[in-house]
Amino acid sequence: MKIKKDDQVKILSGRDAGKTGKVQQVFPKHSKIIVEGTNMVSRHMKANADMRQSGIITKEASIDISKVQLMCPKCNKGAKIKYTILEDGKKVRVCNLCSEMVDQ
Ligand SMILES: [Zn+2]
Repeated sequence: MKIKKDDQVKILSGRDAGKTGKVQQVFPKHSKIIVEGTNMVSRHMKANADMRQSGIITKEASIDISKVQLMCPKCNKGAKIKYTILEDGKKVRVCNLCSEMVDQ
């Protein structure tokens, strides 16, 4: 997975195309992620111990990782990512536009 939790990503397709948001959750097995404030779905909730009132809540639904692009914090654009191995053997993600490391 090239996308990690807390990454800033841009949505490439669907009704949220063009929106950016922070990755809240990643599901590597399914190649899906949840991005804050995108792909909102309404769910009907019944009243229970946690929820005193029944009603509709909106919540982010997961989207396919192929529909997002990582935002480079340096050039502030959706960037293609490549991997580079540092001298100490650490694998880091690098933006192909500005060649800056995306990982701190
Ligand atoms: Zn960049």
